Amino acid sequence: MRRWVLLALGIVFWIGLAPDPLLAQGGSSDGRTTIHVVQRGETLYRIALAYGTSVEAIAQTNGMSDTTNIQVGQRLVIPSSMVNAMVSTAGRHVVQPGESLAHIALRYGSTKELVSALNSIVNPARLYVGQVLDVSETTPGRPPLTHGYTHVVQPEDTLYRIALRYNARVDDVLLANGLSSPALIFPGQQLLIPGPDAPALQELPAPLTELTLMPLPAEVGRTFRLRVVSYEPVTPGGTFLDRPLRFAPQPDGLTFDALIGVQAMTPVGRYPLTLTIVDDSGVAITFETVLYVADGGYASEALTVSDELLDPEVDSAEIAFVAGLVSEFTPERYFDGPMGLPAAAPVTSPFGTRRSYNGSAYNRFHTGTDFGGPPGSSIYAPAAGRVVFSGPREIHGLFTVIDHGWGIYTAYAHQAESRVQPGQMVSAGEVIGTIGNSGRSTGPHLHWEVWVNGVETDGLQWTRLSFP
Ligand SMILES: [Zn+2]
Repeated sequence: MRRWVLLALGIVFWIGLAPDPLLAQGGSSDGRTTIHVVQRGETLYRIALAYGTSVEAIAQTNGMSDTTNIQVGQRLVIPSSMVNAMVSTAGRHVVQPGESLAHIALRYGSTKELVSALNSIVNPARLYVGQVLDVSETTPGRPPLTHGYTHVVQPEDTLYRIALRYNARVDDVLLANGLSSPALIFPGQQLLIPGPDAPALQELPAPLTELTLMPLPAEVGRTFRLRVVSYEPVTPGGTFLDRPLRFAPQPDGLTFDALIGVQAMTPVGRYPLTLTIVDDSGVAITFETVLYVADGGYASEALTVSDELLDPEVDSAEIAFVAGLVSEFTPERYFDGPMGLPAAAPVTSPFGTRRSYNGSAYNRFHTGTDFGGPPGSSIYAPAAGRVVFSGPREIHGLFTVIDHGWGIYTAYAHQAESRVQPGQMVSAGEVIGTIGNSGRSTGPHLHWEVWVNGVETDGLQWTRLSFP
């Protein structure tokens, strides 16, 4: 008897591993593991630097024992940056929003010319956020300068008055700006005023004092937080990848966060981010920067399913239904810190896997994370929120959607049973339903989706990182 139970459970788990047919259209078939073809003159160190990874990580991924011996034309698998996060370490700097080459050079006690030469930069204006720079060489007599204000010289300004206003030394201002004489300033000029209590060096238009991205770089299929800090009340807005940015204020009224999901089929590359900041008197300033979107490290799989599971009309109707549910922006934030897991079960299929159906191109992707829990086992709310839908749908089966505020939604498909009603508030860890096999599903499992600013993103990132 017991053996039968075990055998039955084994079958259930095996079926749970079968990929479910929830899918989405995408515009591109690339985005699989990044392959770098070694060019003449390259070293492994340079390649690692360019991708924001390490020599060791590339060597390990490619099973290399001798890191000095690479051949022109050799193909190297570049490990996902989720594993090797791009962080500024000794001698390396990851370009942040609002930074210029001059600022970066100052920060490391170097010069624009030196950083340009070290990194073969031809056009400093084409620096992009997420770019990794070699800043290992410094100049004697130039102490590193990490904090300062950007001051725009006014017609009546003198360098002495400016220095006084910021409690800085004239000599330090001259040195920071490469000026030989206090007389060499002109109205409209941007001056850097060093100060230990000033914000981190950034070239931002007033009234902005800070612009940060977390985590850096942004990755395909994942979430990042854009934070804007101003010294006076403003209304920030903007666009990225053709979607409007929706900012929510922190309690201080001067810090604003936008949580941005990068659509999972977005090709790796550099994309403009446009910010529009409107002050109290209605004056708007626009600021543009370029963000690098890195590879998300997703796998690919080819699936064969019966043709009726690929009915494009049913698909697009249900995609539109879910997209409509998750498009509302609730200004209140119900979530706090990292999300919990929605099921006490193994992940049987991760988010973002590129999928080919019946020999098609790899132009679809897995829109959620699958948990292979036994039928009837509990589904938990991973964070507090308000239920906006719970009911049957053709593809998603018994389906629940929770609004966590700030444009963040989680969704639960193929349930056996729902324990919540639309409008109901739920708390983190509360049981909201049970795992089942309803809708278009090939075995009992939970298909869990996390929507950010109208885009499906990797939910497991939310269990590891604390937003905002
Ligand atoms: Zn799934």
